[in-house]
Amino acid sequence: MKVIYSDQYDLNLGNHVFPSIKYRLIKEKLLRDQIAGPQDFVEPPAASEEDIALVHHREYIRKLQTGRLSYLEILRLEIPYSPELVRAVWLSAGGSILAGRLALEDRICANLGGGFHHAYPDHGEGFCVLNDFAIGIRRLQKNKLIERAMTVDCDVHHGNGTAAIFAGDHTVFTLSIHQENNYPYPKPPSSIDINLRDGVEDAEYLEELETGLDRALSEFEPELIYYVAGADPYHDDQLGGLRLSIAGLEQRDRLVFEKARSKDIPVAITLAGGYARRVEDTIQIHTNTIRIAKEFAN
Ligand SMILES: [Zn+2]
Repeated sequence: MKVIYSDQYDLNLGNHVFPSIKYRLIKEKLLRDQIAGPQDFVEPPAASEEDIALVHHREYIRKLQTGRLSYLEILRLEIPYSPELVRAVWLSAGGSILAGRLALEDRICANLGGGFHHAYPDHGEGFCVLNDFAIGIRRLQKNKLIERAMTVDCDVHHGNGTAAIFAGDHTVFTLSIHQENNYPYPKPPSSIDINLRDGVEDAEYLEELETGLDRALSEFEPELIYYVAGADPYHDDQLGGLRLSIAGLEQRDRLVFEKARSKDIPVAITLAGGYARRVEDTIQIHTNTIRIAKEFAN
C-alpha cells in the first residue's frame, strides 16, 4: 500500500491545538514500527489551480495565493495564515487526488494528510483551508476515472463543508458520524448524518456506524470511498466530547474497510483532526489506521 506524504504537509502553526507536526511524527512511527518502508512513501505533486477550482471559487483561491484574506476570514480559519500554510494545503489536495487514483489501482491508499472537511467553496474554517478530498472526487470524475463517490466522515466534527459542496449532487453520497453538540454550527445536511450525543462510547458508536454504513451502501453504489479518519472521537481529545478508546477507533477503521471490501469498493484514506491531550495518542490512533488499512491492500 502506498502512503502519500510530504515534509511540507506541516501547516506551520507553531504552538497550536492542531499539532501540525503530527504528519512527520506519523511517518517516523510508521517507519520505526515497520508498518511501512521508505519505498512505500510517495511525494504528492501540488494540486493545480484547475484542480482546486473544481471545488473552490476563483476569488477565494486568488486571496489564498496572494495573502489577501481579510482579518475575519483568517479568524474563521482559526489558524495563522502563512505561505507555508498555502503550500501545505495545495500539497495536501494533490495528495488526496493521488490517494484516490492509487486507491483505484491498489484497492486502498492513504494520504498522511488532508481530511479538511470544514472548507467550503468560498471560504475556509475550523483549521480547513481547501477541501482536499472533495477536490479529489471532482478531479477523478472530470478525468472519467469514476462517476460516483462516497465520503465516510468519522471525524468527531460534522463534515459541513463537504455536505455543502455536494448538496443536491446525486453522484456523491456523504455520510458523517459526529458529536451533535459540537462545532460546526449550523450543520448543513449530509446524505446521512449520524448525530451522536455527548459521551458515546465504543459499542454504541460502532453499532451506529455499522447501521449507517449498511444503509449508505444499500442506497448508493460508489466506485470509490474517501474515508475521513479523524482521530478526535478519542476520549482524551481536547476538542471532542465522545469517549472512544484507542481499540474502539481501531475497530471503527476495520469496520469501514470491511464494509468497503464486502462490496469491492476502493478506499482512499485522509487523516483529518486529532487533538489528544498527549500528542503520542493522536499519532498512535492515526498509525493504527494505516496498519489496519494495510491488511486490506492487495
Ligand atoms: Zn475534527
